[in-house]
Amino acid sequence: MTVLQMLKPHAGLRVLVTGGASGIGLVIARAFVDAGSRVHVCDVSQQAIDALNQAEQSTEVNAITTSLADVSDRAAVDRVFDDVNAQLGGLDVLINNAGIAGPTGGIDEIETGDWEQTIDVNLNAQFYFTRRAVPLLRKARDGGSIIALSSVAGRLGYAYRTPYSATKWAVVGLIKSLAIELGPDNIRVNAIQPGIVKGPRIERVIAARAEQLGLSYEQMEKDYLAKISLRRMTTPEEVAATALFLCSPGGSGISGQAISVCGNVEVL
Ligand code: NAD
Repeated sequence: MTVLQMLKPHAGLRVLVTGGASGIGLVIARAFVDAGSRVHVCDVSQQAIDALNQAEQSTEVNAITTSLADVSDRAAVDRVFDDVNAQLGGLDVLINNAGIAGPTGGIDEIETGDWEQTIDVNLNAQFYFTRRAVPLLRKARDGGSIIALSSVAGRLGYAYRTPYSATKWAVVGLIKSLAIELGPDNIRVNAIQPGIVKGPRIERVIAARAEQLGLSYEQMEKDYLAKISLRRMTTPEEVAATALFLCSPGGSGISGQAISVCGNVEVL
């Protein structure tokens, strides 16, 4: 295999993407399909699942299969794995992508329920999925791969977004520990830390932040870009390309790393 060939993931990888019916997860799911993988996604949004199922029906091969599930619901996670076993018959790659922004506010303003929901979706769910995936990943022919979506807020402090930032730092602790634990089983565990990714989600985040600080949306967006060395947002495709690389022979020496794909966000 040439070095250039090493940049392509093995054909026929069996991939599970959580929160994969829209946003970055869907771009990752489609990138794996393009690379010849079989992909299953789960998502809490009936609307997003329906839209994806409809789009898949019009493709020649129904490549992406789906489960409606809330990742923070343990019984639902078990049902997702029933579907994974039925649809894929095993697993080579787990992408723990589902995540929510959580509340924006000072620590004394944050509601306990909002705090707990952020921990449930962004952290506890990664535990539920990983513990179910590992026995399957141990049997992966070319070794298993787990990719967790953290954030640049898991590398830097992020005032007024403490629940989100705390979960994204926690994800790094999870992957660094698991990389050590699972390396002897040929399972690699990494995190991707996107920064400001183009799309509707970041528009909501900027709007909430602008309101918090009493600024206009335009001023807030300008302030965000000023903190990025490349002075631009990154794209979901750049995040998906990193996920593909991590699951290609070229990425097979990488484990225990939190990789920023963010244009070098200097401060949040
Ligand atoms: P998004 O909100 O656009 O999409 C997330 C998907 O997850 C949606 O389809 C949603 O329905 C699903 N989802 C939400 N809660 C769920 C739950 N409880 N169970 C199952 N599915 C659920 O988010 P995104 O921008 O695509 O972000 C994906 C990941 O990347 C998240 O973990 C996020 O924290 C991380 N991230 C995003 C950015 C960004 O700028 N967009 C930056 C850094 C990190």
